[in-house]
Amino acid sequence: MIDNSTISLSEKSIKNNISFLRSKLGDTVKISAVVKANAYGHGIEQIVPVFEKYGIDHYSVFDYSEAIRVYNCLSKSSSIMVMGWLSEKDIRDAIEKEIEFFVFNIERLQLAVKFAKELGLQAKIHLETETGMNRSGLNGTELNAAIAVIKENIDHIELTGFCTHLAGAESVSNHFRIQNQLQKYQEMAGELDVNNLKPKYKHVANSAASFVYPETRMDLVRIGIMLYGFWSSTEVFVQYINNQDDMADPLKRILGWQSQIMAVKEIKRGEFVGYGISYLAQSKITTALVPVGYSFGYSRSLSNKGRVLIRGHQCSVIGVVNMNMIIIDVTHLKNVEVGDKVVLIGKQGKLEIKVSAFSEISDELNYEILAHLSESITRRVLK
Ligand SMILES: *Cc1c(COP(=O)(O)O)cnc(C)c1O
Repeated sequence: MIDNSTISLSEKSIKNNISFLRSKLGDTVKISAVVKANAYGHGIEQIVPVFEKYGIDHYSVFDYSEAIRVYNCLSKSSSIMVMGWLSEKDIRDAIEKEIEFFVFNIERLQLAVKFAKELGLQAKIHLETETGMNRSGLNGTELNAAIAVIKENIDHIELTGFCTHLAGAESVSNHFRIQNQLQKYQEMAGELDVNNLKPKYKHVANSAASFVYPETRMDLVRIGIMLYGFWSSTEVFVQYINNQDDMADPLKRILGWQSQIMAVKEIKRGEFVGYGISYLAQSKITTALVPVGYSFGYSRSLSNKGRVLIRGHQCSVIGVVNMNMIIIDVTHLKNVEVGDKVVLIGKQGKLEIKVSAFSEISDELNYEILAHLSESITRRVLK
């Protein structure tokens, strides 16, 4: 772990977001917390124990390495679901640890059967169907083949889930496509019924779908971005808030990112600052050097555009973002010193640097900014 900068995580905000989601989604819908990409950059090892403390007992990840990280920090028997990549060996290990996984082709199903037989166990699978996203999933013919394999090997396969993923529920422009997907999903679910297969969880919804299309909640919802305090898109937020009396955002951001000043310098008028000629001092200025750069997730596209908070004031990034450092214009501040706190994301005094401000400048999604936060940054949970 490095101490160039630290990420703080607010336990209060986590508690707030979980109870908001519970109250809106209802008691009969299981919340699977999506913690892929290092819990959207927040840190699996820090986030999972707090989620668990507030009652989350189902976790979704992308691959087996993330599944193991979740597995190692769970204190009680919660479920883990791998939605994406597993090597052949991982499939065997997953079955042994009762880790659930998506099956989107017959090859993976056959491997699951083979290993479950060898181990004398049941593989917990979620059949993923192709309903129109055209990414991964079983088409109609493949679903029928899978049903046959499952029926033949019912002692070794537990049909834990039947699912699909919607291609962009956060935008109304995809409404027609989503409706077609839902119809296709229901038709395919009918095939299971006919064959007397009853999945434990039917699930299709991410954060956006859970709010925009309540009928998609079914037995389980896979919630990522909202647990971390962000709406999937402005559209989803506006749609929600327009139907409320209280216009305040019910979600609270969890993450803050801070660093400190490592050097202060006076620059003469007419000098270029940093690499190349992208910033020319038009007058005498004072700069502060901060030990954070693109290698930690501070995007290069924030060059000459990013903003940080120092001593309760907004200050600008000048010159290009380096691999490990940024240079900040602090000319307008009095008494700036080495060691002063620098807020990259979060609040200081009355001001706040939001991830969304960050993403508007750099033209990246909230999701992208968060996922790029380096795993090497020290993360701390604040009570
Ligand atoms: C990432 C992901 C989710 C969660 O999406 P959010 O928009 O963050 O809620 C749900 N389902 C699948 C298959 C995913 O890959």
